[in-house]
Amino acid sequence: MEGDVIAARVERARELTQTLIAQGIRAVALTNVDNSGITLVKTVPVSLLERATRFGIGLSPIFDVHLVNDLFTSTGELGGPVGDLRLMPDTFILRPLAAQPGWAWAPTDQFTQEGEPFACCQRTFARRMAERLSAESMSMRLAFELEWFVARVEGDDVTPIHRGPAYSAAVLAQVSDYARDLIVALEDEGVGVEQFHPEYATGQLEISVAPGDPVGAADMDVLVRQTIRGVSARHGYRASFAPVAIVGEVGNGGHIHFSLWEDSRNLFAGGNGPHGMTAQAEAFVAGVIDELPALVAVGAPSVASYLRLIPHHWAGAFACWGRENREAAVRFVTGMVGTRETAANTEVKCFDGSANPYLVAGCLIAAGLSGVERKLRLPPEVTVDPGTLSAKEQEQLKVRRLPESLDDAVAHLEKSEVIREAMGDVLFNAFVAVRRGEAEAFAGKEDAEVVEAHRWRY
Ligand code: GLU
Ligand code: MG
Repeated sequence: MEGDVIAARVERARELTQTLIAQGIRAVALTNVDNSGITLVKTVPVSLLERATRFGIGLSPIFDVHLVNDLFTSTGELGGPVGDLRLMPDTFILRPLAAQPGWAWAPTDQFTQEGEPFACCQRTFARRMAERLSAESMSMRLAFELEWFVARVEGDDVTPIHRGPAYSAAVLAQVSDYARDLIVALEDEGVGVEQFHPEYATGQLEISVAPGDPVGAADMDVLVRQTIRGVSARHGYRASFAPVAIVGEVGNGGHIHFSLWEDSRNLFAGGNGPHGMTAQAEAFVAGVIDELPALVAVGAPSVASYLRLIPHHWAGAFACWGRENREAAVRFVTGMVGTRETAANTEVKCFDGSANPYLVAGCLIAAGLSGVERKLRLPPEVTVDPGTLSAKEQEQLKVRRLPESLDDAVAHLEKSEVIREAMGDVLFNAFVAVRRGEAEAFAGKEDAEVVEAHRWRY
């Protein structure tokens, strides 16, 4: 099976090589996202793409226990200087990087030297979960919505690209060339840009892109971020996807939108459940909400995440749901009347840009499927800001405050049989060790120091 996939990718690399060179593309950036949420890269000249696709590019397995501060932790299975992994480029996803002339990009899977998928490969994990969904005759359309902070950085001086007003045409005029270059670059790369706007916080912008299958959407998240970094660099700016870029300000979300499909039917519309959900979609979302305290360790995995995940900031700090409720961790979006069959979807708001998108996609599916298996029903809908409810009202509506620190979130994750089983022990243990390592590294640190340490890492 693996052999066939690699053979097809090699064939594709052979077809692409001359075309890429004719387009002036001479090097390929090959990425994977590690358990700390950092996107790693190795590059090869286009002339060696075919060889790299067949045999992979070497990477030390220690990067699966890499921390955000560039230190390493270890598990029973991983750590230390010995060993090698092969990063196997997926040439079917390869595209030119429009903001990095002469460069193309492709995501990779981690293989062992024996030619098997490595147990820690986050992209393989997401694919395995998507296959589980297919085995239940469902598929998922998913999109990562990105908020980021842009600034000019000179020495220690960080000058944000704008200071508001939020959502304003005034800001658009200031960032006009930058925003246009970004939209053009993404469209040239074949990314379906859906919307762009100046966001609420200082220096903050937002882009939404078209949904794709779970692995494809995670790949696009990597590409969109790299393109934002590229366009930013060309304008003399730096981009940050860190959960918080300025202490005390509203943070950068990495919200997920997903819909579930059975053949060509959107399971979030036309059913008998709340706001037209089908029973399957309801059970899936209920599964996600049930698992949310553990899932935030995956979707809001950094120490800095918990400076963002606070009430009254539209970050979704409470495990509950509501139609168009922007303070609920799970916002149900029905779309405009007349579009619901295609538009209805669920947004998970509590996640941010320090998350590994492959792990997020895979874990959401695992949690949702466990809800389907248990035929869970949704808790009562929350139609107000859950942070304004009394403790008694929260209890009645089954609203839970999400973990308030990384330590707290990891404690929930460690108890999650659903996620452990889905990830398998090697990946699960490595991921937990990285989270524990980061929590320890920043224990007792001031917020400002935490924000500084994370600002330019993702
Ligand atoms: N910036 C907010 C967050 O931290 C989200 C704002 C919005 O709803 O778009 O997630
Ligand atoms: Mg937003």
